Amino acid sequence: MFQRIMVANRGEIALRVIRACRDLGIEVVAVYSEADRGAAYLELADEAICIGPGPATESYLKIPRIISAAEIAGVEAIHPGYGFLSENAHFAEVCRGCKIEFIGPPEEAMRRLGNKNAAKQIARQANVPVVPGSDGLITDPEQAKEFANRVGYPVLIKAAAGGGGRGMRVARNELDLVSGLQAAAQEAEAAFKDGSVYLEKYLDRPRHIEVQILGDRFGNVVHLYERDCSLQRRHQKLVEESPAPNLPVEVREAICAAAVRLAKTAGYYSAGTCEFLLDQQNNFYFIEVNARIQVEHPVSELVTGVDLVREQIRIAAGEALGYTQSDIVHRGCAIECRINAEDPANDFRPSPGQITTWRPPGGPGVRLDSHVITGYKVPPNYDSLVAKLLVHQPTRTEALAAMRRALREFVVEGIKTTIPLHRDIFNTAAFVEGKVDTTLIERTFMQSK
Ligand code: ADP
Repeated sequence: MFQRIMVANRGEIALRVIRACRDLGIEVVAVYSEADRGAAYLELADEAICIGPGPATESYLKIPRIISAAEIAGVEAIHPGYGFLSENAHFAEVCRGCKIEFIGPPEEAMRRLGNKNAAKQIARQANVPVVPGSDGLITDPEQAKEFANRVGYPVLIKAAAGGGGRGMRVARNELDLVSGLQAAAQEAEAAFKDGSVYLEKYLDRPRHIEVQILGDRFGNVVHLYERDCSLQRRHQKLVEESPAPNLPVEVREAICAAAVRLAKTAGYYSAGTCEFLLDQQNNFYFIEVNARIQVEHPVSELVTGVDLVREQIRIAAGEALGYTQSDIVHRGCAIECRINAEDPANDFRPSPGQITTWRPPGGPGVRLDSHVITGYKVPPNYDSLVAKLLVHQPTRTEALAAMRRALREFVVEGIKTTIPLHRDIFNTAAFVEGKVDTTLIERTFMQSK
């Protein structure tokens, strides 16, 4: 096992990794940008090193600075968290080249899965259904028109290197398609330095269901069941839960088995997520793999009792899983709300600034993962997640009640947050009945937009 590791991230996930290290008795070194200087969570690490100015490109994304800090601090491994460098195969390679273990999957699997179009090829190889798509990249509009005419409009233009809902555009007719191709390519080039795009059939009101997987270096792979992440706003998740409500047991088993096959085919180890869309007939289609720990991982931790960050660290240190699929038991229902510093009443504009009151909820079955305390200043530089509020109860009905209670207790002043929207969601009939799809929030709360 490692004696000392570094977390190359910030905010709640940095704190999550610090906590995992404490539990394992490992020393942990944090890094921070000038925008995060003085944040209270940094005091919980054994050491904290400044790696540059506020803009992420000058700090959390700057590989030489992170590697220098790691060498100065004398760590044996780096946990990348999510976002930033977490899915950067080059970073993983540089770490390992410097004899610092990268706590994540092998770079070869990261590279192949990091390109969504290449990932779909692996899925096909693993006999996993994929959304009907343009087998390969689209290089000219004629090719795109031919595909759209074959599968029928609407179609979705997607960036091969995409993430965070960027570089994605719906085309409802030929005119949309031709203009959208150019716009999507430009957006992808700006965001990911890779303007390649491909097409998919745009599914009508699908559900987003993903499977948590965990694998070791010896080819053992298990799944930790599914999470339903259908509650989204502009393709960004807001609420996640497990089990997926109203999902027939045979569909659930088939999706979980597909995820394990895919991970094995890709030669994957560490924690990862296979994402699928489910159409209204309960047909499921693979969309992408997230080759990292995800924001919503605690949902699966609550229902299985497995500490995913600890498992990532153990696996990186070369340990075997030490358990099999039948040891992973799903218990109860867990739900997560993403509390963002955003104003839901004003088109979800970021709402950075100082938090004057922070009164977090508690009580039976509540877990709060947050780096925030009263007086914390949410910097404008990074993503707006300030807390992940989770509940775990024996049944979904009880989980909904516990979440309503927790949302009612939660007081945040000084900035706007998504808490009021979450309160409304938990009183929305369709959600309460488990009739969810990826357009539910927009249809229910953003009608006028
Ligand atoms: P990103 O990596 O940018 O998050 P994903 O491929 O994971 O993009 O898709 C994000 C979300 O976009 C999905 O959860 C779903 O809501 C929507 N989406 C993606 N592909 C399709 C599709 N073919 N049809 C309908 N919705 C889709």
